[in-house]
Amino acid sequence: MHTLRQVLLGVLLLPAAGMAQDRDLVITGGWLFAATGNERVQNPGILIRGGKILRIGGDLSGAVSDAERVTLSGQETLIPGLFDLHAHYAIDLYGGGRIDDTAAYPALFLANGVTSTFPAGEMQPEAMRALRLRIENGAQPGPRIYNTGPYYGTARPGWPRDITREQLYAEVDHWVEQGARGFKAKGITPQHLRWLIERAHFHGVTVTGHLESGFRNSVNPRDAILMGIDRIEHFLGGDAITGDRGAYASLERLDVSTPEFKRIAELFITHRTNYDATLSAYGYYGKRDPEVFTYFTDEKRFLTPYMRSVIDARAPRNVNQQFESIYWVKRKEIKAFYDAGGGDLITLGTDHPSWGEFFSPFSVHRELHSFVLSGLPPAAALRIATINGARALGVGDRLGTIEVGKWADLVVLRANPLADIRATRDPRLVVKAGRVYDPAALLKSVEGKLGPASVAEAGQWGSR
Ligand SMILES: [Zn+2]
Repeated sequence: MHTLRQVLLGVLLLPAAGMAQDRDLVITGGWLFAATGNERVQNPGILIRGGKILRIGGDLSGAVSDAERVTLSGQETLIPGLFDLHAHYAIDLYGGGRIDDTAAYPALFLANGVTSTFPAGEMQPEAMRALRLRIENGAQPGPRIYNTGPYYGTARPGWPRDITREQLYAEVDHWVEQGARGFKAKGITPQHLRWLIERAHFHGVTVTGHLESGFRNSVNPRDAILMGIDRIEHFLGGDAITGDRGAYASLERLDVSTPEFKRIAELFITHRTNYDATLSAYGYYGKRDPEVFTYFTDEKRFLTPYMRSVIDARAPRNVNQQFESIYWVKRKEIKAFYDAGGGDLITLGTDHPSWGEFFSPFSVHRELHSFVLSGLPPAAALRIATINGARALGVGDRLGTIEVGKWADLVVLRANPLADIRATRDPRLVVKAGRVYDPAALLKSVEGKLGPASVAEAGQWGSR
């Protein structure tokens, strides 16, 4: 009989999630950004065996004779696979409630170079767990999924506000047994958050939170950090976010030159708390900064023809002025946090449950672009999207950089991302656990698959 901890350790010690490649893979030519530093160097040659990086540089002639070979040319650049730590598979095509899409999103994430995802609160945790198992068994292509289980707090439909400590512990135990690798709090009270952190840490998994100001028995990120929370979503919190009003009302006016900002940045850095910035999610609700919100591919082609006709007939969404202001505040905030020394704590999260436009798997590139437009160096943005994400999930020793011994999750870009971060869009190849995927084929495979196929099917999608 295994204890829960042993079960969890078993999960952690499994080889690369998903089907590892049997044949050796040799990648030569072009350039390498390993995310171990800020430089791009000429690719010294990489040998991958059993899904792991066996050798970088030197003599690669030990590769088996029928090894698969990938040759990079010109400015093509190999980077580690990308991490989205707020990767909702959720879409809300009718404004009638979110549904996790397990059909098209996995292929869309992978095709965009995203090899690891943390869904940050699952609407249908059983379906998301089943998706992870299908991906791990090789039945469906997709990124690694670090399941979160359901939301903890009022973001969960039917959240029991009077949940006891024993009940909450039992829930956490259950979801850890089901393979959850982190938890997401949203709309949680201080007491419930304390219990959640306690029990999650007992199992060695992390907790992140979409928190508030402290208003109406909510939790300010400042207090959550003191409770030991591992990661914070959306905004830093602190004394500039006062408990007499909602967090967004203060965030809208946040001045990053104040002592309050300095104090909260220092608190994150002292406690090594991760900050998932989700810049573009706010931009989406605002005026959609035209530099960031372009369509670099026709994303709507992934909708079913029926769904596409519904969305095309819809009036454009209203601009949320508060979120527009917050987007620009957050652009300054992320630079100030980086300058304060928080660069290795920032993670990339797309958030944004789509209403049929600007899908999250593509918004990974919008988020990267937003970091650079905010003033972060492209190399820092790439490290945020790779090694920082891996460390935040507790897998920094196995993923996040291109180093010997690590799992071979890699992306081949067509150009130099340090010269223009937009080079992350449209990768030529994606490698997960040493297996090579063709993004064009992945995209093609899910065209017309997103959303209900007919008005009859739409009922279960929360249609109004
Ligand atoms: Zn979210």
